[in-house]
Amino acid sequence: MAKTPVGSQIQYMPENVALHQRCYLCGSADIFDKFKVNGYTISGCKSCSFVFVKEHLTTSELVEFYRQMGAPEVYTENENLKNLLYYYERLRDMIQEKQPKGRILDVGCSEGNFLDVMQGWECYGVELEAVVAAKARKKYGDNIKECALEETNFPSSFFDVISLQDVFDHMPDPLNSLKICYDLLKPGGLIVIKVHNISCLYAKITGSKFYAILPPTHLSYFDRNTLGLALEKSNFAVLSHHFIAHIMFIKTIFHRLSDGKSQGLFYHLYRLTENSFLGRIRIRKNLNDIITVLAVKK
Ligand SMILES: [Zn+2]
Repeated sequence: MAKTPVGSQIQYMPENVALHQRCYLCGSADIFDKFKVNGYTISGCKSCSFVFVKEHLTTSELVEFYRQMGAPEVYTENENLKNLLYYYERLRDMIQEKQPKGRILDVGCSEGNFLDVMQGWECYGVELEAVVAAKARKKYGDNIKECALEETNFPSSFFDVISLQDVFDHMPDPLNSLKICYDLLKPGGLIVIKVHNISCLYAKITGSKFYAILPPTHLSYFDRNTLGLALEKSNFAVLSHHFIAHIMFIKTIFHRLSDGKSQGLFYHLYRLTENSFLGRIRIRKNLNDIITVLAVKK
């Protein structure tokens, strides 16, 4: 299967898809339509300000969507690993300030790249995508489960830390996912969630063209407040939030600015720089567009 370029999306819409009639974070029926993107409606909640995809895809529909998408290039490209490590090492240091060592579960662990920096830890992972899960299993064996979080059979109160990076906003029922994490964590255990920040200035300026508005890949669009609300409702106490910088290739920035379209100035710049030295120049990016929250099980 052809690899999907970074940030691009296939067209996928199930027939007779159900619609959320209420905000699935606070339960309010006072919701409104904000944008149409990729044929999906992005809704907002007037009560808690949560932003979400109105179409309610089932788990099997999402599995079919990811099957059609194939493995994302961003995680399989070796060169980009150095960029990811910049973030991962900073996150590791933050975790180890709270919890020096122990047993960690990385949900949506991909090839196990984050687990690789958690040396000295007992590492576990969950990954839905078969190709990357197989790579993680080569390193971590049966500690990697190729399934959805709700299908794992880890014992209750098993983990000291659970991390969800670039995966929480993909989940069709984030509160249920937090409930599962709550059960799997030891009392006082740490949960770490990294998502796109829908309330950053860049998102406000770009509106429906904000690069993270990517239905049905991203179903929930959080910010500091709504992520805090989700955690509080799930009996976690928020410790801190962070805007950690990311290292990116110049070509990736051009691709994001191209809005996934195969035309226009930024797309041409992306194609021109795609395989060039210039495109591989790394820059340190921090637009507060990525938020990482640390919270503990009450
Ligand atoms: Zn709400």
